[in-house]
Amino acid sequence: TEDQLVTPWTYSVASGYSLLRDPQYNKGLAFTEKERDAHYLRGLLPPATASQQLQERKLMNTIRQYQVPLQKYMALTELQERNERLFYKLLIDNVEELLPIVYTPTVGEACQKFGSIFRRPQGLYISLKEKGKVLEVLKNWPERTVQVIVVTDGERILGLGDLGCQGMGIPVGKLALYTALGGVRPSACLPVTIDVGTNNEQLLEDEFYIGLRQKRTRGKEYEDLLQEFMSAVKQNYGEKVIVQFEDFANHNAFELLSRYRTSHLVFNDDIQGTASVVLAGVVAALKLIGGSMSEHRFLFLGAGEAGTGIAELIALEISKKTKVPVEETRKKIWLVDSKGLIVSSRKDSLQHFKQPWAHEHEPVKDLLDAVKAIKPTVLIGSSGVGRTFTKEVIEAVSSFNEKPLILALSNPTSQSECTAEEAYTYSEGRAIFASGSPFDPVEYNGKVFIPGQSNNAYIFPGFGLGLVISGAIRVHDDMLLAASEALAGLVSEENFAQGLIYPPLSNIRKISAQIAANVAAKAYDLGVATRLPRPENLLKYAESCMYSPIYRNYR
Ligand code: NAD
Repeated sequence: TEDQLVTPWTYSVASGYSLLRDPQYNKGLAFTEKERDAHYLRGLLPPATASQQLQERKLMNTIRQYQVPLQKYMALTELQERNERLFYKLLIDNVEELLPIVYTPTVGEACQKFGSIFRRPQGLYISLKEKGKVLEVLKNWPERTVQVIVVTDGERILGLGDLGCQGMGIPVGKLALYTALGGVRPSACLPVTIDVGTNNEQLLEDEFYIGLRQKRTRGKEYEDLLQEFMSAVKQNYGEKVIVQFEDFANHNAFELLSRYRTSHLVFNDDIQGTASVVLAGVVAALKLIGGSMSEHRFLFLGAGEAGTGIAELIALEISKKTKVPVEETRKKIWLVDSKGLIVSSRKDSLQHFKQPWAHEHEPVKDLLDAVKAIKPTVLIGSSGVGRTFTKEVIEAVSSFNEKPLILALSNPTSQSECTAEEAYTYSEGRAIFASGSPFDPVEYNGKVFIPGQSNNAYIFPGFGLGLVISGAIRVHDDMLLAASEALAGLVSEENFAQGLIYPPLSNIRKISAQIAANVAAKAYDLGVATRLPRPENLLKYAESCMYSPIYRNYR
């Protein structure tokens, strides 16, 4: 019981040498003369003092000198461990430049080499060795108030497959974005990796591998560990802690989400976050391609976590708008997987998450024939397989659409279904295009086209902030719709004029606050918010709750 399992906590005021070694409070050369006197820092620092701005300039200079992205990643990790506020100041002020470092694609490489670059642990490792002791492990974490947990079991890290325990880079990176983009306090964020082994032979043989050296455990033992973790989380942190599942293989991802969505505050970014960000893009794109959602036909290549998640949210949005049952609105959406168009004759052999999409149609073997048969107005790639939107496919979809909407979501860049240049060229400059990985602007027939990036980072930080500020205890699909609406509403006329269907990422803190306000409002409307009374102006309230990386003065 709780009484028998106590951890002996001590609290003390950091000063002198220990203050300089405490990333939460360290300011390096930015300690003022007065602070140096008051906190026993005299002589421990060189005489010069520096402003936070000067420190930021110096570090950005250093980071820009590194040619190899992984070196930049390591420099940022070191900074995070040395001076947390400065780390977040850099990230917030240089979001477009640093996002590809702390997040996809560089974080993927960092995970692959995590064992070699590992210095200090930055989160909780819960392995099969901790079975039966997970609650105690949680109590070892130094922070008492945790609001967001990002957890992975490392089985499907980005498009890189099973990286086992080294998947920890993903929760760490995602939570850095929770703080930088969404304003959740760093101390309230907890990265967790559940280590049940790995089937990655290379890692199992790597002498620097940091995880359990065994094949992945499946079945009951896996489920029991997850169950113990989920119970311990609720017991230790209460009802209002967000558990974000990240980069689980799809057989576990759908299962975990459906098992815990009624008892915990859970969110799966690969399924739900992706769906929300893509829906926002589609809603915004209507201004350019015309018509209402219900008048469009959607065809997906790829029917996994991303594809079926997006499809379901689009169906739900059409259903809400038209009052037509979701079973009917799904019929506007078609998916192609590796075996061809998903149709009713395949139903019995389909995984359960594909079954709702098995509509009446004769079998169609490949994408091009499916495009010709379905005549979609919106073509979405979520297959993880590059160069599948061929010239013929794009020409076909452009032959019956004035402005086809083409979303090539697969990451990394090499897996993108087509490049921006291909989309604009083969559609003769008519396609509205966005992709998962960024592409440079393209010039076609004298006109410059700026491709948008359909990036999950638009949604999950603000979504999480909305849950936190309202004290929500469950995630409801309507909140995802609310987040999409907020994001779509922030695309300006100027953005549209450039062919963009997302606002610029440089405004992300404002975007997150707006999304948070919309999500929180929905949580109150649905009766799942516990922070009472409801703030009168949720947008102002969200902004006021956001973490600022500016140094504080010490007494
Ligand atoms: P997943 O493994 O769950 O699903 C992949 C799907 O593609 C499966 O249905 C599979 O049958 C299908 N598929 C595989 N090869 C195919 C082929 N040759 N032809 C047709 N279908 C094929 O993976 P996921 O989580 O859905 O991710 C898929 C891709 O989407 C990844 O590349 C991922 O990086 C990307 N993604 C992008 C975003 C984003 O940009 N915002 C978000 C999430 C996922």
